[in-house]
Amino acid sequence: MNTNWDCIVVGAGAAGLSAALVLGRARQRTLVVDAAGQSNRDAHGIGGLLGHDRRPPAEFYAGGRAELAEYPTVQLRAGEVVDGEPQGEGFVLELADGSREVTRRVLLATGMDYRYPPLPGIAERWGRSVFHCPFCHGWEVRDRQLAVLDRGASGVHRALLLGAWSEDVTLLADGPAELDAEDAQRLHDAGITVDERRVAGLRGPGSTLTGVVFADGDERPCGGLLVPVTLHQRSALAQRLGAAASEEPGPIAVDALQVDQTFATSAPGVSAAGDVAATMPSVANAIASGNAAAAMLVGALRTAPQRPTAALRRPAATGAEAGAR
Ligand SMILES: Cc1cc2nc3c(=O)[nH]c(=O)nc-3n(C[C@H](O)[C@H](O)[C@H](O)COP(=O)(O)OP(=O)(O)OC[C@H]3O[C@@H](n4cnc5c(N)ncnc54)[C@H](O)[C@@H]3O)c2cc1C
Repeated sequence: MNTNWDCIVVGAGAAGLSAALVLGRARQRTLVVDAAGQSNRDAHGIGGLLGHDRRPPAEFYAGGRAELAEYPTVQLRAGEVVDGEPQGEGFVLELADGSREVTRRVLLATGMDYRYPPLPGIAERWGRSVFHCPFCHGWEVRDRQLAVLDRGASGVHRALLLGAWSEDVTLLADGPAELDAEDAQRLHDAGITVDERRVAGLRGPGSTLTGVVFADGDERPCGGLLVPVTLHQRSALAQRLGAAASEEPGPIAVDALQVDQTFATSAPGVSAAGDVAATMPSVANAIASGNAAAAMLVGALRTAPQRPTAALRRPAATGAEAGAR
């Protein structure tokens, strides 16, 4: 074993960085391990985040890392946690490089895998002209000819919602729209067109969208496309640690982790924050839950029986920590 930590934060997205800041400021020895796969890294900017609105995600993560670098209590490490198990009153986590780390607590901030429909042309436009969240990207495509790829009740809901950003919205059902008479009337009243033709692909240079191509060869002009997504655990790590997922799949997050009001999972000593345990995924919510989960963890660490073993004893403060700050 290499080092002993009060908390290992798995993931340095918005939730993990936010949690590490609180833990580090509370002088808890914190290791953050990150595989650098934040879900919004392809996006043009972060929409709707106060203080960082519309600025690139990479700038946000770099800023968070720079702030953490001020705290000698926090160490950031590039890597992937591939396994973990309880040991004594703590845990041993195994990294992909074969190293093993011992910690009193684990905070899972691993984010989720966003899965969009398998339509050719989405990948290169993802987080730009094709998006899953109008609150994140609607402003950037406002007043264009917009479309929603969906059907049934969720298609109706999304099409009506997208009407906040444009008066020209089409519901692309890619087959039967599955609308009852009342829904069809609501869409009609809102000026939303329904197109049931099969959608074959997208058109436009680079990450720009100019049109949707149908299987019949026809094309509809379109400057922004809202698509449905489902969110899934990125790995079996939470499961390996014994943290249970919700019994009922949510409409978006299929297997988000169950957490209580203190962000504790069903596995004693394991907490979770951000998308991995969220019903409303957003950067602001990830920051907030990381912050709160970390505060709860500090309370738990301080009130838990302290183990007077060498293995978990805090090392002497570094010069920088003991200094002026
Ligand atoms: C394309 C797109 C655009 C978006 N745009 C916006 C927007 O404009 N505004 C907004 O508010 N929200 C937006 N969102 C949602 C927002 O990005 C997420 O809600 C938020 O990033 C979640 O933060 P997180 O810290 O929980 O997870 P993430 O940001 O996904 O970070 C998790 C980190 O954990 C790492 N990780 C995972 N497993 C391991 C492991 N085993 N070991 C080590 N590291 C691991 C990952 O590599 C990643 O770096 C967008 C989402 C997407 C997909």
